[in-house]
Amino acid sequence: MLPRGGLMEEMTWPEVAEAARANVPVVLSVGSTEQHGPHLPLGTDCHIPLGIALAVARRMDLVVAPPIRFGARSRALSGGGEGFPGTLSLRATTLIATVQEVIGGLARAGFRRICVFNWHYENAGVLWEACDLASERHPEIRVLLMESPMPNFSADDLAALFPNGFPGWDVEHASIMETSLMYALRPDLVHRDRIVDDEARRHPTWDVVPPPAEFIPRSGVLWHPSEATPEIGQRFLTAIANRLEEALRTEFHLPG
Ligand SMILES: [Zn+2]
Repeated sequence: MLPRGGLMEEMTWPEVAEAARANVPVVLSVGSTEQHGPHLPLGTDCHIPLGIALAVARRMDLVVAPPIRFGARSRALSGGGEGFPGTLSLRATTLIATVQEVIGGLARAGFRRICVFNWHYENAGVLWEACDLASERHPEIRVLLMESPMPNFSADDLAALFPNGFPGWDVEHASIMETSLMYALRPDLVHRDRIVDDEARRHPTWDVVPPPAEFIPRSGVLWHPSEATPEIGQRFLTAIANRLEEALRTEFHLPG
C-alpha cells in the first residue's frame, strides 16, 4: 500500500477523513510571499518547506497541508524589507490568528498530530503563540513547532555546506542555502542567468525602525547565491528532512 497522505490540496475529503482517522501526522508549512532577489520566485519560502515535507512524506504516512503563503513582515536585515514589489505580508496579530484558525480546522478534521514547520525567518517568535492559542482551544491535539528548520550543523558540516565561510542564517536569504535548495527542489524556477551577489552596505547586530537605506541591498539578495550548487542543495535537503522526520517520530511516538 502507498503511504497515506501526500499533498492535502490534491486529496479528496474522504481521503483526508481516512488519514485523520488513522492518526496520520500533518505538516503545516508557514512561509511567505517575499522578494528573493532577481533569480528566485516570490514563493521560495513556500516551495522549499513543501518540498522538504514531501520528501518526508515519501518515507512515512504524512499529510502535507497547504502552506500559509503570507508571513510576518519582511525585515530589511533578513528579507530586504517591505519595499520590494511582490512582497506581501501580514501583521503579527493577523498571522497568529490565521495559523491558530488553520490548526483549529485541522483539529476539527480529526488530526491530532500537527507539526507547524516554519521557513520564513520573521515568523519565528510569532508562531509559538499561535500554537499555544490553538492548543488551549483544542486540548486533544499535540503541536510540534519547528520554528527554525535548521539542524545544529557541526563546524565540519558548515565547512562543507559553505566552502567560502558561513555568513549566518539571517543573511541566508535568496543566497547560498535557499538557491541551492531551489536547485534541488524546483530548478525550473531558478533564473541562473540573473544571479547577482550582493550585501547590505551596513549589517549591524541590532535593528533600526524605519530601516535605513544602507540596510537594504538593491537586488534584495543578502549574500552570495553564485556559490549555490545542486549538491549543496541536496545536502541541505537530506539534513533538514532527516531532522523533520526525527522530530515527527519522536514527538508523535512513531516507530522509525
Ligand atoms: Zn526565503
